[in-house]
Amino acid sequence: MSHVADRTTVTRFAPSPSGNLHVGGARTALFCYAFAKGHDGRFVLRIEDTDQKRSSEAAGLGFLADLDWLGLHWDEGPVFTCQDGRSVGGGEHGPYFQSERLATYDAAIDRLIAEGKAYLAFDTPEELDAARQAARAEKRAFRYDGAAARALSDADRERLRAEGRPCVVRFASPQRDIVIRDEILGEATLPAGEVDDFVIRKADGFPTYHFAVVLDDAAMQVTHVLRAQEHFNNTAKHLLLQEALGLPHPTYAHLPIIFNPDGSKMSKRDKDKALREAAKTAGLEKSPDGPDGSPIVDEKAYARWLGDKTVQLPGEAATAMAAALGVALPEIDVEDFRRSGYLPEVLVNFLALNGWSPGDDLEKFDLAFLCQRFALDRVVKTPARFDRAKLLAFNLDAIQQMDEATFLARLLDHGRRYHPGFIARLGEERMAALAAASHARSKTLDEPYVGNAFLVADDESISWPPDKAIDKALRKGEPNGLANLAACVPALQAIDEHAWNVATLERVLETFVAERELGNIGKVAQPLRVAVSGGTVSPPIFDTLEMLGRTSCLRRIERCLAAFEHSNVATS
Ligand code: GLU
Repeated sequence: MSHVADRTTVTRFAPSPSGNLHVGGARTALFCYAFAKGHDGRFVLRIEDTDQKRSSEAAGLGFLADLDWLGLHWDEGPVFTCQDGRSVGGGEHGPYFQSERLATYDAAIDRLIAEGKAYLAFDTPEELDAARQAARAEKRAFRYDGAAARALSDADRERLRAEGRPCVVRFASPQRDIVIRDEILGEATLPAGEVDDFVIRKADGFPTYHFAVVLDDAAMQVTHVLRAQEHFNNTAKHLLLQEALGLPHPTYAHLPIIFNPDGSKMSKRDKDKALREAAKTAGLEKSPDGPDGSPIVDEKAYARWLGDKTVQLPGEAATAMAAALGVALPEIDVEDFRRSGYLPEVLVNFLALNGWSPGDDLEKFDLAFLCQRFALDRVVKTPARFDRAKLLAFNLDAIQQMDEATFLARLLDHGRRYHPGFIARLGEERMAALAAASHARSKTLDEPYVGNAFLVADDESISWPPDKAIDKALRKGEPNGLANLAACVPALQAIDEHAWNVATLERVLETFVAERELGNIGKVAQPLRVAVSGGTVSPPIFDTLEMLGRTSCLRRIERCLAAFEHSNVATS
């Protein structure tokens, strides 16, 4: 076997664009990136879009934005304008979309056919199905038997083609033991007969993954293939193809799968699982309504989804369902984590720990450190467990370590993408106040927006649901919260619009508490909080009142007092 040891180190990340970038894919990209950088090498991005059914250009671009956000910029690959305006990609081994490389694949396939290392096969799907069923009935694994197809004459081929049969190209797999050497998993031997004459060009004229990957890894001078463990068995096919094509073998390293803590695979289905559980708990027999006021899915689809674990809601319906049920969906794709307000540097740090560790109990590090220290000998063989609580704790720590200005800038960045209406309504100046008020307790960049939706809600939409804590704040004690609320209104009304700020509010309300001998500010702060927010949690009260502004505060207090007018009885 020839190896490619003395060349510049080149790794590649080769996603199939079937949606957004899954965290597992992001971890693979991260390790490829770190390995290349740590060896002064190149990191190539190649889009494996030969599966026409699944690919879409938009999906491909989603991947690119996800990688950009994580800071994993490719030295070679699709040309892309990063968020910061920089352009990355290009390179002398393109194109980097496989769908644009068909001529190269065809030329190599023609060569293999001419050399007798590949052949045309004309089996119909029905014939293949029958062969598969026969294998199943005899309890043996299905292996394509190429004897008949190999023996076809040119005239036979012409006839079969004329009949309109599907025509694929199959690789004439040499029947011998295949030794796979893996930098992480060690060595494994696949006995002769395990790899059959697999398809290398599909009936639609596109190469299969196996063929394209082998040709492109060589064309792009890839020296190290780091990819998920699920591809380990494919490596046998790749080694055989490399030999048939006279191409060098790259070094292989198969990375452990990332699992949920319960041992299940992290998949988009987790979102449906969470929603289904919530729908069942709530006893919902019909789909709740979406933002447009009509059911999110029709009755039949809802029943099917509820009863069948394998049915998935389309992305938008899942988001609408989550909002309607008040469920936080488990994050699966990089974009999910971004939307939830995780910091890219935290996700990078955390993902690196899924399958690798630098040792010495070191857990917090940045991308530069990872590039310096990453080595395959510290990658584990066993599945990694995705510990969400730890990720959240990392995120909280990182947010707390930011200075005020950085937190504000990043909060705004996040909001411009996911909560533009919130920012427009609150105004950038008040956003600074919100950042200052929520910095210390925000675990994510999303929390200040989601937790403070009341700040930008219509005054008339605030309501006070039956709730123990609300009840306590408003109706318990003597005088109770409602009484204190009503009593402080004249003092608040006396504050001029321009003077409605933390300092004035603090002075006025402290004076009010002292004059009434209420003992502590909480006696009026908590009822105020409930009145203006409809809940019992908000940023510090004076900040909250300042951010909301005089008009909204007074209107909400008035509405709250009216809402409880007839039930102002202490309940205990
Ligand atoms: N397109 C393949 C995937 O997304 C790449 C596998 C490989 O790295 O060889 O799984």
